Amino acid sequence: QRARLVLGNWKMHGTLADNAALLAALRQGAGNHCEMGVCVPFPYLAQAESLLKGSTISWGAQDISVHEKGAYTGEVAGAMLRDFGCRWALAGHSERRAMHGESDQLVADKARAALAVGLTPVVCVGETLEEREGGNTLGVIERQLEPVLALGADALARLVLAYEPVWAIGTGRTATPEQAQEVHGAIRVALRGLGVPQVRILYGGSVKAANAATLFAMPDIDGALVGGASLVADEFLRIAAV
Ligand code: 13P
Repeated sequence: QRARLVLGNWKMHGTLADNAALLAALRQGAGNHCEMGVCVPFPYLAQAESLLKGSTISWGAQDISVHEKGAYTGEVAGAMLRDFGCRWALAGHSERRAMHGESDQLVADKARAALAVGLTPVVCVGETLEEREGGNTLGVIERQLEPVLALGADALARLVLAYEPVWAIGTGRTATPEQAQEVHGAIRVALRGLGVPQVRILYGGSVKAANAATLFAMPDIDGALVGGASLVADEFLRIAAV
């Protein structure tokens, strides 16, 4: 009942020429795969729209402003993302939490801003290695999710969550399926308690074609948020075809 979803997060990678080749290959290879999409840097949204329109692959942004419009230099509003046909907006990726000081409340506000314009927010949570080794993993996830869960069942039913342990991102050190499932299962319990067990929970952190199947076999892992491997068409397509 929860359709698998595989999303790519390009982060700050790409050129017009490289993207054209990657998007064409994705479009060409699209067929026997689950729901899939790519979250590209803002300047390339127009390119993603023109090269993916009419395909089975959706696209979106890696961040969104909490504001509708106004004097917010450097920010990008949800309505602008809608103008380029976006389906998704990541909110609270760990790189933004860590490097741009995004608080748990700000991340929830970003999710709310995305929902307000009809975008699907993909709210990212995850603990650092220090937090995991201190035995605080579930406490950290609970704290990060608290303002998101407070958005209420109607909002939750329209968003996607992503569990991305910081120590597994870009390190080649993926969480074991059991480690990921432990967190996904705990999040599911909370969602069920709020009457929204159908919310999709993606796993992210060094997902590759070689480890995707065992992750996807876990009961509460509904897909993946893929960084590095989403920049390689063949690898990304293989993850989406598991
Ligand atoms: P990697 O797949 O490169 O580890 O990145 C994961 C991630 O941060 C996706 O948002």
